[in-house]
Amino acid sequence: MIKDTSIFAHPSELEFAQILNFYGLKWEYEPRSFALRYDGDKIAEMMTPDFYLTDLDLYLELTTLKQSLVTQKNRKVRKIKELYPDVNIKLLYRKDFHRILAKYGFGPLAEADTKGIDKILLSTRQIQHKVNRLGSEISSDYKGLKPVLVGVQRGMICFMADLMRKISLPVEIDFMTISPYSGDDSQSVGISKDLEMDLSGKDVILVEDIIDTGMTLSFLKDHLISKNTNSLQICTLLDKKIRRLVETDIKYVGFDVPDEFLVGYGLDYNEKYRNLPFIGILQT
Ligand code: 5GP
Ligand code: MG
Repeated sequence: MIKDTSIFAHPSELEFAQILNFYGLKWEYEPRSFALRYDGDKIAEMMTPDFYLTDLDLYLELTTLKQSLVTQKNRKVRKIKELYPDVNIKLLYRKDFHRILAKYGFGPLAEADTKGIDKILLSTRQIQHKVNRLGSEISSDYKGLKPVLVGVQRGMICFMADLMRKISLPVEIDFMTISPYSGDDSQSVGISKDLEMDLSGKDVILVEDIIDTGMTLSFLKDHLISKNTNSLQICTLLDKKIRRLVETDIKYVGFDVPDEFLVGYGLDYNEKYRNLPFIGILQT
């Protein structure tokens, strides 16, 4: 729970803090200022990043206010990286933040009238080609084993269905559902439907549609590891690396994708577009 909401300079910071809480990511608000320029021995310029994520050792600056401040902040963040090479810092743009909210059906992007699909990013053929390749890779890596493919509802449905048919090994499948963020600070990510299979001693492959910030994945990994699996690897069709906050090793990646909101082949926008046979960029 956030006890004192008045510490935040902007409501979006509070909202972001709630999302961090939801994923159990520990944070501090503006704990440190970095001197960027000295005038003699006086500090002439400094920057105080909004958040510090304790466990990730990562500073985050939200640029959700005026876009005109973005260039300025960009310059400052670059300077911090230059002057303090051991410090990890990331800038989160307004659109990044709106996308995070939109995933849960909040914020301006979620409410926006979308103009449909702007562009096909990955055609049915490109996807099938990649799924075939991933299937053969998994088949040879898991030779002699019987991997369990685990999917989190509902975005992976097309990928899982196609991938399992390209694996030439006996595979088992199971599914789980996690509770989405509802804008309530007291809430934390939970499992609304857990796996039914006993995973202890099993070789598990978590099949994901898309890894974005990595917050969901980090939760899922911990959850699956707690089931005493023999091994656990991640296989994601899409990787939006540029937006990663929580780094995780991902063994199988289909495509690195740009920082756009994608729909189709299982991915939705407000539950629409899942049944498109290709992956498109949603125009807002
Ligand atoms: P993460 O926790 O990595 O930020 O979020 C992963 C989840 O966010 C995915 O499983 C997916 O449900 C959703 N997501 C992330 N990016 C996109 C996107 O571009 N389009 C859609 N439809 N969902 C996305
Ligand atoms: Mg600030």
